[in-house]
Amino acid sequence: MAPVRRHTTSSPPTGPHLRVPSRRTLLRGGAGLALAAGASAAAPLAAGQAADQNSRAKAPGDVDYPGAEWIPADPSNFTASNRPATYPVDFVVIHVTQTTFQDAIDIFQNPDKNVSSHYVIRSSDGHIAQMVRETDIGWHAGNWNYNTRSIGIEHEGWIDEPDRWFTDEMYAASAALTANICDDYGIPKNRDHIIGHNEVPGADHTDPGPHWDWDRYIELVRSA
Ligand SMILES: [Zn+2]
Repeated sequence: MAPVRRHTTSSPPTGPHLRVPSRRTLLRGGAGLALAAGASAAAPLAAGQAADQNSRAKAPGDVDYPGAEWIPADPSNFTASNRPATYPVDFVVIHVTQTTFQDAIDIFQNPDKNVSSHYVIRSSDGHIAQMVRETDIGWHAGNWNYNTRSIGIEHEGWIDEPDRWFTDEMYAASAALTANICDDYGIPKNRDHIIGHNEVPGADHTDPGPHWDWDRYIELVRSA
């Protein structure tokens, strides 16, 4: 339940925020739940330029996190970029979907939704779908600045039904993913950097809600 991240290139890390995105191989996606992404905002790079850079670096089906299933979001639901060269990645933002795993995927693949998250995790078994490449900017935080600097992880379920949806399998899978993201980008494994959607400045969403067990989650991240 704790896949090791793949480091496919020979480029040595040059520092937490400058390192060449080694493991990040390819993706493209973004789906969006009922989240208010607040995404649209400005694309910092010429879209064509960023897309071109990405296309050269990836192969279809590659994912940033081994074991994840690549289910691409619609390209209109995220911003192509080349992080961490374009923006440092400082945060992991934790979400709860308020819909099913499949519905979340359908939303992120719907070009009319304008929302996406890098990852969606299934409650029943902790299965991870990657929908947006980590180099790209997901539209999940409802705050452009935070979108540019974060990786978004959606967890299947409803915030007021923790016993049914917040399974051991999902906590474990998510914590292992977050731990690897933190290791890759040099993000401290603490609550200043692993935050809930509700903690994003200006966000009007309440997920992951009062029943998300933060103490347990951070402990799992640190021990992953
Ligand atoms: Zn959210």
